Amino acid sequence: MKFIVIGASAAGTTAAQYLREKAPKAQITVFTNENYPYYGRPRLSEFLAGEVELQHIYFHDKHWYKNNRIDLHMGTAVTKIVPENHKILAGKKTHSYDKLLLACGARARDLPIEGVHRDGVFALRSVADAVHIRQFARGRKRAVILGAGFLGIEAASALNKLKLGVILVDTADRLLPRFLDKEGARLLQDDVEGLGITVMLGEAAESIATMQNKMQKVRFQSGESVKGSLVLIAAGTVPNKEIAQSAGLVANKGVIVDKHMRTSSPDIYAAGDVAEFAGICSGIVPAALEQAKVAATNMIIEDALEYEGTVPIYTLKGLGVDLTCIGLTVPEDEGEYEVIRVEDREAGAYKKAVFQKDTLVGAILFGTRKNAVPLNTIISKKLDVSSIKDSLLDQETNLQEFVKQNEE
Ligand SMILES: Cc1cc2nc3c(=O)[nH]c(=O)nc-3n(C[C@H](O)[C@H](O)[C@H](O)COP(=O)(O)OP(=O)(O)OC[C@H]3O[C@@H](n4cnc5c(N)ncnc54)[C@H](O)[C@@H]3O)c2cc1C
Repeated sequence: MKFIVIGASAAGTTAAQYLREKAPKAQITVFTNENYPYYGRPRLSEFLAGEVELQHIYFHDKHWYKNNRIDLHMGTAVTKIVPENHKILAGKKTHSYDKLLLACGARARDLPIEGVHRDGVFALRSVADAVHIRQFARGRKRAVILGAGFLGIEAASALNKLKLGVILVDTADRLLPRFLDKEGARLLQDDVEGLGITVMLGEAAESIATMQNKMQKVRFQSGESVKGSLVLIAAGTVPNKEIAQSAGLVANKGVIVDKHMRTSSPDIYAAGDVAEFAGICSGIVPAALEQAKVAATNMIIEDALEYEGTVPIYTLKGLGVDLTCIGLTVPEDEGEYEVIRVEDREAGAYKKAVFQKDTLVGAILFGTRKNAVPLNTIISKKLDVSSIKDSLLDQETNLQEFVKQNEE
């Protein structure tokens, strides 16, 4: 059996590992257009801040691939897929496959405004990006970050650690509006501003212009403007679906997959940020890992495993602030849910639990990390929490024990 995997990151490498374990005799070839083996993209802000060296963010080095008989081609883009012939074009060579996995991820979203391709305007998606930004930031005074999602806030903190003054801008009227309600967002903003980062909300960038002194001037629709030596755009991601689309595979936001992670072409599977399952492109590592496992299993034995979705979990890193958001934390209509909030203003701690009848569907932990793992399990496994609803958010409650007793 010949397996080809496009992408050597969370989804691609995890799938290759499963394929090797379950199909010891198979030929496994992995292509990545990056010049690095699998590294932790979530640790890029740490790397940018100079807090960790590159070798410490790799999950595997080249030898790991060799030892596992996974033929890894780095710096090699796959440019064409021909499903009818079961062939791909990578570099200048054609390779044939029995089953193909698209694990080609996503790229940073460009803002549709003038000036985004200027020198001094960056995005943070890869090691190469982080290296460029770090080099460019040396000796500079101020950075403007457009987009205050998790990535934008973490990048703001990293640049702040590199001693740049940072202006963090978002169109929304509070930080992380999809994840935090007003109370949580206010606490977070206090912490971010406490680091010396300026937060500008409700501002939509209109253009970026380079001035004579090489400073970038970001103009907003409101007529306001700010200046910085560098601009970092952190406005979300776009799945790398084009290569699949030009091969005739059905795509929408991402490449559409069924519950077996199969695309519209029977021998081609997709997993991770490139895949769209049930209308959702997940964009998080836990989903990439689960989807990779399902895809790899089904590439070996058809329809052996079904994907059931992944509960979204986001953790803010690098700020010295503990924040974890799991599942549905800001329901559109809170009336349909039961919500319990616990706030300790002095300690800067805030917790929220969102219930649908006797099931926990979402949780925010701010200022504490305790119980994050069991809360994720409770939400993912839809455990009945009726017996502990009122004490669920208490600091003393041992949710690990509850999970142990209630998990089948
Ligand atoms: C700065 C940052 C922080 C993040 N923090 C978190 C976090 O805290 N928690 C979390 O869950 N997620 C986080 N994420 C998101 C997470 O990194 C992604 O969800 C995850 O990397 C997706 O893995 P993937 O394998 O699907 O795709 P990717 O990691 O995007 O990898 C796809 C790979 O395929 C390569 N490729 C693309 N096209 C081709 C081609 N034609 N030929 C060959 N190779 C190709 C790409 O260059 C890339 O190397 C973060 C992302 C970033 C950038």
